[in-house]
Amino acid sequence: MTVDTGAASAFTMRDFAPVPESSLGPVVNEQGYYVGRVERNLYWVTDGVYQCGFLTTPDGVILLDAPATLGHNIQRAIDEITSANGVSNKVTYLIHSHHHADHASASSLFGTDVVRVGHEETRKLMLRDNDPNRPAPEETFQDHRTLEIGGERIELGWHGSNHSPDNSFIYLPNHDTLMLVDVVNVGWVPIYSLNLAVDVPGYIAAPEIALGYEWSHLISGHMGRLGSRDDVALHQQFIGEIVDNLREVFTTFDPTEYYQKYWPNMWASVSEHLDEVARRACAPLAAKYAGRIAGADIDSFVVSTAVWILESLRLDLGLGIQVHP
Ligand SMILES: [Zn+2]
Ligand SMILES: [Zn+2]
Repeated sequence: MTVDTGAASAFTMRDFAPVPESSLGPVVNEQGYYVGRVERNLYWVTDGVYQCGFLTTPDGVILLDAPATLGHNIQRAIDEITSANGVSNKVTYLIHSHHHADHASASSLFGTDVVRVGHEETRKLMLRDNDPNRPAPEETFQDHRTLEIGGERIELGWHGSNHSPDNSFIYLPNHDTLMLVDVVNVGWVPIYSLNLAVDVPGYIAAPEIALGYEWSHLISGHMGRLGSRDDVALHQQFIGEIVDNLREVFTTFDPTEYYQKYWPNMWASVSEHLDEVARRACAPLAAKYAGRIAGADIDSFVVSTAVWILESLRLDLGLGIQVHP
């Protein structure tokens, strides 16, 4: 058997709705990054897709995540800010939001003389994955831990599994800022399967927990701009609408014909049934959210997200699960 590499075959590239201006952020520089001030000595860096943050303090720089795509641009951004302000550019602490390689793999660039901090599950998972780019944090926490470094306060919180089992809330109360990564993609829809959420109820609940903190600026890990509380509310509305539509379609749609047609291919019936429910639930979204959230017309993201939520409605919440009489 061979795999079609696409080298000799024709393919079509589909068109998508224009990205709303409001979903885009500042233009990146020649090296491919933008660094901006959030408040006081807290800064954020983006390449348009990934984000991290850093605090400059008398005890060195505290880095919040180290995304691979930003890589060496993280230190460039730090150098740019610290040299302008005449403060130390040495990264002394690295705080991880979660264990995923895309948000953490620039960690090793900062060497061994850095205190790495993360949830205890982040440590476990990084030890398990044994990736030289991501040394496991030595400093860990379970539910809550407050760090006071260089006169600045950072409150780490873990509120249960959501996007990943270890995904944590990084709160900077004196900077009016929350960092919560891979839950709300500010201005954009979640990618595949609800942003790859390992825990759907946890993922759906996370924005409400985020809004329970007092803040004005959200560092969401994606995409090109900072988030606001309104961005979180819009995300909640979008996901809430998928949930509501799924409940309505799933409980009113009669799939009997699929199960008759494909018998005894049960997997064909299940796949056609649940995919159709997801497609119908998502059908109104592209038009409704055009100009407000980028990617609402990208079916592979939105429909796979609906399938994943539908499975959670069934398996976590028991929707439509019937016990044989
Ligand atoms: Zn992640
Ligand atoms: Zn991410």
